[in-house]
Amino acid sequence: MGDVQDILIVGGGIAGLVAACMLRDRGFTVDLVEKNPAWNAYGVGIIQQSNVVRAMHQAGLLERYLASGFPFEDVEFHSPDGVRRARIPGERLAGPDYPANVGVRRSALHETLKAAVLEKGTRVRLGLTVQGLVQADGAVDVTFTDGSAGRYDLVIGADGAHSRVRSLLFGERYVPTFTGQSVWRTNFPRPQGMEALQTFRDVSGNSAGLVPLSADLMYLYLTTREPGNPRFAPGQLPALMRERLKDFRGAVAELREQITDASEVVYRPIEVVFVDEPWYAGRVVLVGDAAHTTTPHLGQGAGMAIEDVVVLSELLGGGQPVKDVLPAFFARRYERTKYIQDTSLMVCRAEMENDHTLNHPQVIGEMLHYTARPI
Ligand SMILES: Cc1cc2nc3c(=O)[nH]c(=O)nc-3n(C[C@H](O)[C@H](O)[C@H](O)COP(=O)(O)OP(=O)(O)OC[C@H]3O[C@@H](n4cnc5c(N)ncnc54)[C@H](O)[C@@H]3O)c2cc1C
Repeated sequence: MGDVQDILIVGGGIAGLVAACMLRDRGFTVDLVEKNPAWNAYGVGIIQQSNVVRAMHQAGLLERYLASGFPFEDVEFHSPDGVRRARIPGERLAGPDYPANVGVRRSALHETLKAAVLEKGTRVRLGLTVQGLVQADGAVDVTFTDGSAGRYDLVIGADGAHSRVRSLLFGERYVPTFTGQSVWRTNFPRPQGMEALQTFRDVSGNSAGLVPLSADLMYLYLTTREPGNPRFAPGQLPALMRERLKDFRGAVAELREQITDASEVVYRPIEVVFVDEPWYAGRVVLVGDAAHTTTPHLGQGAGMAIEDVVVLSELLGGGQPVKDVLPAFFARRYERTKYIQDTSLMVCRAEMENDHTLNHPQVIGEMLHYTARPI
């Protein structure tokens, strides 16, 4: 018999928001605390592949989600001379009426999920976090940084790469580390006919991609080696991004000189962390980036976060006690997230070493095949 009614979600990002929706749909009482008082997300995009479209269907959020993004089918690969060399057709895992893949602005996805969370009756508090957790008598006593307190049957740490909940469970055993690469992103108008994820390489191993986001928008991402993890003033970013794109050919080269608006360029060092032991202790569990922050090379980080909460919510909805739900959750999620973590890092390292033996279309094809398996 189930022993959970009151749930606290720490973190109102992609994982926390999808979890709140699903758990409210299953009749749980849900409180959510979010550290960022503005509770916002930046406007560049995110790629969501066929397994994520399927997971959003399972979460009961697919129609709203599709309305906030741009559906597309194929992934295309270009050689350093800018010529298209390979194409992987999408697989419609959510059913024939739904697209294989979706590109979506993070801000649009965030607003869509926030609206759903509030509509479904989650109690949201902003600008605070968890101060401490004490587990006793089959419950978790939580103190918050605003001096308030609460008692919960389950606490879900969905608080991202630098998770406070993770450090409360594991101390400093798991800390994100810099990979040596960073990502540059900016938006452009989407030309007519630009309806696939297009990936590009330069001669030194850096990669870039164009992703459709809406009827009138697409975004460009670029991964580069950044030894020493430098920090740049925002005003420098357009010129630095243009400089790093100088060896690209094809569609990316044609866009380069249009990168002039510092407020539109988002720069982010790539960090990773993977909790290589059960993601729970007692009645506290980690999901999404708090448990596994991966590199963006396979475009699956948010996908794994969404899949995590779909599995956890379904298990909790099944009415099993927490002592059975959390091990079952971890068992269903470990291998898949580890595969994404390891494969993403392999691609990241191959780029940094400019390893031409890496067959990028093959790696992506295998990943799509693997993630097509049921969760
Ligand atoms: C450059 C880059 C590109 C990416 N591209 C893709 C892509 O194309 N496709 C894809 O699937 N994934 C992509 N990812 C990965 C994806 O962004 C993450 O995997 C995803 O955001 C994880 O969701 P999350 O909810 O677990 O964490 P987050 O999205 O980080 O959300 C965590 C939330 O918790 C809040 N928070 C943090 N600390 C606390 C605290 N102590 N208390 C309360 N709240 C807190 C934060 O403010 C935030 O709202 C990319 C990542 C990067 C860095």
